[in-house]
Amino acid sequence: MSAPAATMNVPLFCAASAGQGLDLPALLSEVVESQRYILGRHVQVFEEAFAAYLGVPHAIGVANGTDALEIAMRALKMGPGKRVLSVANSGFYASTAIRCLGAQPVYAEIDPNTLNLSPEALAKALAEQRIDAVVVTHLYGRLADMTLIAPMCREAGVALIEDCAQAHGARHAGRLAGAWGDVSCFSFYPTKNLGALGDGGALATRDAALAERLRALRQYGWGAKYEVAHEGGRNSRLDELQAAVLAAKLPLLDASNARRRAIAARYGAAFAHLPLQAPLADGEDYVAHLYVVRSARRDALRAHLASRGIASDVHYPVPDHRQPVLGSTQADVQLPLTELACAQVLTLPCFLGMTDEQVEHVIAAVLSFHDGMA
Ligand SMILES: *Cc1c(COP(=O)(O)O)cnc(C)c1O
Repeated sequence: MSAPAATMNVPLFCAASAGQGLDLPALLSEVVESQRYILGRHVQVFEEAFAAYLGVPHAIGVANGTDALEIAMRALKMGPGKRVLSVANSGFYASTAIRCLGAQPVYAEIDPNTLNLSPEALAKALAEQRIDAVVVTHLYGRLADMTLIAPMCREAGVALIEDCAQAHGARHAGRLAGAWGDVSCFSFYPTKNLGALGDGGALATRDAALAERLRALRQYGWGAKYEVAHEGGRNSRLDELQAAVLAAKLPLLDASNARRRAIAARYGAAFAHLPLQAPLADGEDYVAHLYVVRSARRDALRAHLASRGIASDVHYPVPDHRQPVLGSTQADVQLPLTELACAQVLTLPCFLGMTDEQVEHVIAAVLSFHDGMA
């Protein structure tokens, strides 16, 4: 007997799909038989495959996405006295790395339609302030406006770091997220579009000298074994088992992104006439990592969905410059578009393994909320 539709449970993610289609016993025994658990053949194979996928010469596995951001900034010599520009609506990940290095975050406004860094705000900041590096987060799986942002940074002589943790496989005019900046950062946290069965991350760059520095920083700052040649070294390695999982999943990425996009397109068609701002669905720029709508009645909509068994979440409720850890240091910063977005965004279920029935259940619940039938 199937449950009545009104109580169908729809989670926000499907944890089981992270390992689906993989021959896990075979992967595990292959790694054990190789007798290398750290920085062996599997990491190298994955790094080469991932670099080829991105269309950049160098990819470097690290322990997670936050480390990737921190190592990227360290390799670009960010630290005390340096000013790193970021948006303030992307979950504090870039801010965490900026603050770990003792650099200063500089927050810029978003474009209210894409919810990504506003190229106009970036241009203004570059013209009016000293900026040493820019972090662009491709939020929710949407490529930021890189055709404008990348040349602006290049002309200003400012390092450009891409945070691609939500945008594996997103592309514009054939150029992938991660192939626009000086260095790009990926997370393979299990819920990401390319997810490991644990923590994982990667860096990518076209610059051979930068790649060498990134490689050294992930392993104690070693130039050669036991010879510490680079300041700021640490231990942040992708392990062999996760690399084997990622190498097996990488060939499936484009197809799984297409499935996510199809769910987003179905939502988009169903919600077109509602007083909701739905994600722009304009093809390969968007890989639907998160399906985020904006609603002036966000909290009521969320409660309505919960009453129908539908999970939702807010990515992210607190803008970076208002996080309690910063105290009053950013009290002067006013980002009205960012603050309004944080008050209105709501993430609906859009994940691999989601059934058509679940998609229709979410749609029916969103429609019934707006029918005033709540
Ligand atoms: C998940 C995520 C990170 C952090 O990745 P971890 O692997 O969890 O450290 C960084 N930036 C963004 C945008 C993310 O979504």
